[in-house]
Amino acid sequence: MSRSAPEILEFLRSSGARRVQRVCLKANKSTIWSLTQQGTVLNLHVAFAGAPRRLLRYFVVIANQAHRPDAEYHRAMARVAAWPPLDREIRRIRQEARRLARPARRDLGVGPCCATPAQRVYLRKLFDYLNRTRFGSRLPRTIPLRLSNRMRTSLGQMVPGLREGRPVVVELALNVDLMLPGNGPARLDTLLHEMAHAADYLFHGQTGHGHSWKGWARRAGCVPEACSATPIRRRRRRDSTVTRVPPLPLGARLRIAA
Ligand SMILES: [Zn+2]
Repeated sequence: MSRSAPEILEFLRSSGARRVQRVCLKANKSTIWSLTQQGTVLNLHVAFAGAPRRLLRYFVVIANQAHRPDAEYHRAMARVAAWPPLDREIRRIRQEARRLARPARRDLGVGPCCATPAQRVYLRKLFDYLNRTRFGSRLPRTIPLRLSNRMRTSLGQMVPGLREGRPVVVELALNVDLMLPGNGPARLDTLLHEMAHAADYLFHGQTGHGHSWKGWARRAGCVPEACSATPIRRRRRRDSTVTRVPPLPLGARLRIAA
């Protein structure tokens, strides 16, 4: 059984909580309830959506007596705070928050790579070249690179992680479709996009497409948007392999010869 905020409001008002005009349910990590806007808004922890009426009635006392706390008010406060499901829900919300604040720590492994040895060499050379020419060689040369044949809609990803409390890039992955002929501009743009994420995470601790990421993206010369609108060529069947090694940019090739 779960009640919506308006249902709780209706119940409280019909039980005598005249001042309350709005109930908000909140997934808080510690606050279990609060009265705001001169006692007209009752913010309840979302756990109370599943509370029985006998427990909700304590909020009638709380709402009515908050401006003049008496013994009954303190008893009501103690009762709602001691309701066991509240504690369980708060613990669950805290756990979830901790998990989200810990990017990729649970999995510091690199995903499955479908690149051929020649494609691996290509990726590494392209990365080194772009690192040198677009990022002032500030990115670690040891960042794992891979090709993925499992990505459906995304073209690439940067996986952030922590090792001994320090930010590390777990991997940069590109969709293997980017190796197909005709995808050259998208391939370059995607790799620069993910490298900008790597720089933004390593030097600013950020993972989104915010201000600092856009700065890196602009300096590197890729489209400073969350996702590019350009359609790319796709392999005909998802289980077909792509072994093509595209030509490297001239600068990257010269470096190899040197
Ligand atoms: Zn992105």
